[in-house]
Amino acid sequence: MVSEYMYAIGTAPSPIREFFELGRAKAQELGPENIFNLSLGAPAVPMPEEYRQELIRLMMEEDQVKLHTYTTTAGDEAARTAIAEDLNRRFGTSYTRANLYMTAGAAPAICAVLNAIRNSADEEIALLAPYFAAYNSMIKGARMKKLEIKLPEPDFRLDLEAIERALTPKTVGLIINSPNNPSGTIYPAGDLQKLGEILTRKSGEFGHVIYLISDEPYREVLLDDVEVPFTANFYKNTIICYSYSKSLSIAGERVGYVLIPSENEDFSRLYPAVAGAAGALGVSNAPSLFQKALAKCAHLHSDNELYKKNRDLLYKALTDMGYVCTYPHGTFYMMVKALEADDKAFCRRAAEMGLIFVPCSGFGWPGYVRVALCVPEDVAARSVAAFKKLKESYK
Ligand code: PLP
Repeated sequence: MVSEYMYAIGTAPSPIREFFELGRAKAQELGPENIFNLSLGAPAVPMPEEYRQELIRLMMEEDQVKLHTYTTTAGDEAARTAIAEDLNRRFGTSYTRANLYMTAGAAPAICAVLNAIRNSADEEIALLAPYFAAYNSMIKGARMKKLEIKLPEPDFRLDLEAIERALTPKTVGLIINSPNNPSGTIYPAGDLQKLGEILTRKSGEFGHVIYLISDEPYREVLLDDVEVPFTANFYKNTIICYSYSKSLSIAGERVGYVLIPSENEDFSRLYPAVAGAAGALGVSNAPSLFQKALAKCAHLHSDNELYKKNRDLLYKALTDMGYVCTYPHGTFYMMVKALEADDKAFCRRAAEMGLIFVPCSGFGWPGYVRVALCVPEDVAARSVAAFKKLKESYK
């Protein structure tokens, strides 16, 4: 018999999928050249050339049986060592490969972590809205509950008082994502410091650890000369979930990791629990070739210049027209306030003009839409006229 529970997760509406599909249908109707599909968060630039060359070298020179066989369950040892050394050099930490568990991207990393810290069905994971829509199904999949905490407009920075007020004795984890999908906001060090203090205080009050689960696929997707403070340096019970999907433009190849700093109170049990959950969910053994190339390339990231150009162009054009937008310093997304209360209706009207983006109601923040900046420059430039038409249609 089909699981009603999983059936409900599998058939729950996905705003991103729905509007991406609408874009495909509109392309047939209006012609692909008249469609500006700003709905998907897929990289629009190639992987770094050095990484590509290393993949080729491995394919040409290495033993072709060993290259493609299983890695150790926790991931290729040389790759994990190189990742730890790169983090240590940049963030003053002292990790080793024993702190890292490779996964097939950030989504499996988060799922493994949630399952690793879950003990009963009434436990909550706190989310800061706006948040990545897929957390909903990950939390449901782990059979936990969601505790939603709204961050304030216009820039969606941490509202520390609201977070402190909202946490309950059932809260076992708080997911943060900086730079943030969909707002592009980066949380400053001072706020992370205070957040760490709140979590320490609340953990003491509740008599159990509240983990800070830091989802960081955009840590290297920066559009300005800004610093992304390293979350684990502010709170000892942090678990980092990382992905190379965006930073190396290899979203389809599926490589990421869970980083469990040794400072975690229960490190000696937490690491095996994450490994156990990853194994139980079948998400261990990230693709061997793409892991192995990291041994020499852990320091690399893709060129973000295209995303920056699109951000500069669209932010200026849209705010000049009177749209209210977030100013993303990181990621390749921008939130734009819908011109009517119903963000889905706004997205449907935009689609009539060839503009495809997604409603933020799925991201816990109705009334806004998410505009993806990861498109070719000419698509971003040509979309400006459609945004103008859309604005005029509301006069
Ligand atoms: N977390 C956030 C905030 C994301 O935006 C994404 C993908 O878009 C993921 C996690 C999942 O990343 P991955 O492709 O590595 O599974």
